[in-house]
Amino acid sequence: MPFSDFHGNSETVQRIREMLARDRFPHGVILTGPAGSGKYTLATMVARAMNCLERPKTNGLPDFCGRCSNCARIGQAEDLDVLCANAIEARDALKETEKKETRLFIQTHPDVLIIPPDPPQMMIKVDQVRRLIENIYFLPAEGRERVFIFTNSAFMKEAANSLLKVLEEPPEFATIFLLAENAGELLPTIRSRCMIVPLRRLSLAELEDYLAKHRPEWRPQQRAFVARLSDGAVGRARSFDLEAYSASRNDALTILRTALQAREHSDLFKVTESYRAGAEGRRKTDLLLGSLYSLLQDLLFLDSGSGNLVRNTDVLPELQKLRESADFDWLVAASERLNEVERGMRRNLLRSLSLDAFEAALERT
Ligand SMILES: [Zn+2]
Repeated sequence: MPFSDFHGNSETVQRIREMLARDRFPHGVILTGPAGSGKYTLATMVARAMNCLERPKTNGLPDFCGRCSNCARIGQAEDLDVLCANAIEARDALKETEKKETRLFIQTHPDVLIIPPDPPQMMIKVDQVRRLIENIYFLPAEGRERVFIFTNSAFMKEAANSLLKVLEEPPEFATIFLLAENAGELLPTIRSRCMIVPLRRLSLAELEDYLAKHRPEWRPQQRAFVARLSDGAVGRARSFDLEAYSASRNDALTILRTALQAREHSDLFKVTESYRAGAEGRRKTDLLLGSLYSLLQDLLFLDSGSGNLVRNTDVLPELQKLRESADFDWLVAASERLNEVERGMRRNLLRSLSLDAFEAALERT
């Protein structure tokens, strides 16, 4: 799994590899980019290249083998969401007193420490930075470089100040990665001690190209609309659940159809009844609300003559039919209502009832 597996942003990857080649990699790097742009993947790739035992080169620049014991163990940290969920679950199982003193870390290799935001506040806490300080001045145990990856830029004040002290005088053999959507989320004093490396959004063509390789079973039309819905983020395209999205969008279309062309409600009730309480229902409802938003937005695009921006291109004929009964004022009112439903859901109002009420409020009759 070498650098060539990183999709998009090839100039940036090239620049990073040139810095590795000169053996003058900065001690603090802020990787910026939208969610899903590959910041974490790239940081763990650099960690592997720094510590790979084989030290292969491709196109004359440092790469990593992906197979040696260092690459393999650092690679185990790839699925960050799953590892974080497991770590949180493990902590929840502890006794109250221990729970308070346990902070979240992900470590699959002795020289690479991954520091996610700590729940429930979802912030980086001072105890997490302290762990970094306890580790960073020791020579690497099995690799050549100690790597620390903060996966989020939300630092508690004290944590940010402690990190600042380390960044003022980091040891020769350590690299700290800070991942952020915008560099502006971090203190100016931290920014000024780091190199900022931005990852940009991918173009539609780049995402479709990626999906053609990784989702050959999808129809080109499906790949095209997943690319549009992924908003330039390769991570979102990769994990896109087409089946679940299609199911929730069908439900969303039924709700809009009933509201706009209401003849009878039996289809609608069948749909809304299936949205129940509990974690499963919550996920399903989130998806449904997302689908409703994206359909309403597409209808607004059609209404304003910007049909080229429509994302749900595979149901375009259906959208055009809905658009005939929906004018601008209705679309704006529907978006506002949807916002209210979303707020209600957060307060745990009954899902099926709020969906029925949402539809009723939008009826044209
Ligand atoms: Zn290796």
